[in-house]
Amino acid sequence: MKTIEHWINGSPAAGAETRTTPVFNPATGKEQTRVALGTAADVDAAVVAASRAFETWSESSLTRRTQVMFAFRQLLVEHEEELGRIISAEHGKTVDDARGEIVRGREVVEFACGLGDVLKGSFSDQVSRGVDVHDFRQPLGVVAGITPFNFPAMVPLWMHPVAIATGNTFVLKPSERDPSAANFVAGLYRRAGLPDGVFNVVHGGKEAVDAILGHRDIEAVSFVGSTPVAKYVHETGTKAGKRVQALGGAKNHAVVLPDADLEFAANHITAGAYGSAGERCMAVSVAVAVGEAADALVAALERKAREVRVGPGDVPGTEMGPLVTKASLQRVENAVGTAAAQGATVVVDGRGLKVDGHEDGFFTGPSLLDHVTAEMDAYRDELFGPVLAVVRVGTLDEAIELINANPYGNGTALFTGSGEAARRFQRNVKVGMIGVNVPVPVPMSYYSFGGWKDSLIGDSPIHGPEGVRFCTRPKVVTTRWPRPAQKVAAGFDFPTSS
Ligand code: NAD
Repeated sequence: MKTIEHWINGSPAAGAETRTTPVFNPATGKEQTRVALGTAADVDAAVVAASRAFETWSESSLTRRTQVMFAFRQLLVEHEEELGRIISAEHGKTVDDARGEIVRGREVVEFACGLGDVLKGSFSDQVSRGVDVHDFRQPLGVVAGITPFNFPAMVPLWMHPVAIATGNTFVLKPSERDPSAANFVAGLYRRAGLPDGVFNVVHGGKEAVDAILGHRDIEAVSFVGSTPVAKYVHETGTKAGKRVQALGGAKNHAVVLPDADLEFAANHITAGAYGSAGERCMAVSVAVAVGEAADALVAALERKAREVRVGPGDVPGTEMGPLVTKASLQRVENAVGTAAAQGATVVVDGRGLKVDGHEDGFFTGPSLLDHVTAEMDAYRDELFGPVLAVVRVGTLDEAIELINANPYGNGTALFTGSGEAARRFQRNVKVGMIGVNVPVPVPMSYYSFGGWKDSLIGDSPIHGPEGVRFCTRPKVVTTRWPRPAQKVAAGFDFPTSS
């Protein structure tokens, strides 16, 4: 069985250790390959390569860096289907869904292709007599990315195009559950003309993460994953003097007002809840039914949940694939049982689903829970599976109160026909990304992505202008060019302008 190796200095690298962990095909439940578990020595080898590459890459012209990004973008277009299949085989999501994440990740490459505009500094003429001021931004050095299993292409693409195009070099530690996409992308970068050592991959788990957090030659760490690990990475990394952005978990509410088009809302909430088997940080996991919308909404959601076509991700027509691991499957099915025991109504029970010919796959069907309350585990926990909880409230203000009391604040959506309600919602809700009649409001790449509260630890959202800020540091230059004969008095008082 082949082992997926690290990618260091432009080539696959076996690494210092021979320890590996299995990678499963979630649709069959079978181990299909193994991946190397990186150690501190592997992280160090990648950082040494990245530090060396930084010396020349940071001196390369902006034109050259963006030309590499243009070539890389083209290769992502040409290999979209192939990469989509690689992702589907390890993650379980459908090939079309995987292609969707590649497209959304590619948009960050497109943003990086136009970085010249974003990197323009400011210039102030004659701030004092004969004195001008300008500013510019420079890369940090080696930037590391630590990423989750649920978007093995898109989430790393939120990070490395911006880091690399601004002149940094990069070490990626992808999820050990679906590691192949990272190496495939590394190969595309090489073909795009990226110099060796600018983009590196070290596989593994906690040991590799700890080595990144403790490595003195890594300047910044970009993390996306669950909230407990985000908190740990932020605390440990900042204690070691690094810049850290850490995006965490979520519990995303979709609020439906009685004036909404209920059929439209139910369609979109169903897709947002069960797409990618609910394993999206922007998945709709709570539908908040306001007032008289509730009964009709639940009836429509039930009808649509029963219509979802569950199967292997590479079979055309499949809408929802399996969960990523057997442990996830058990956790999600247990959560449905706990919800019932705590008083929720199980309107659609997805537990125990078997897919013909794939009996050992990690499949569960869509589950729909009604009469869920804020005290129940099904509401409090991020289930990260195809379970939609309906909470019933009386008014829009109660819905906003519910959302604001939730510890997470990643995404939320409002379904309504009222502009006044939409405006009140977006101004008062404590959430970073908001959709109005849009269930999964992932911002375009030229905006920044990030939640509030426990969905983002620290203060730095990812990609877009905030991503550029995160990957660079500013310099402000105050300049005077006196004429040779000109006398400029030097005062002992603190300089002021005149
Ligand atoms: P995870 O936190 O288990 O893993 C994320 C990364 O951290 C992986 O690379 C993993 O190897 C590493 N890791 C895991 N445990 C660790 C530990 N104890 N110490 C150090 N490193 C550790 O997350 P996951 O299960 O891969 O992904 C799902 C989670 O990611 C969900 O909570 C989801 O909401 C979140 N997520 C958030 C966003 C966002 O933008 N906010 C996007 C995608 C996923």
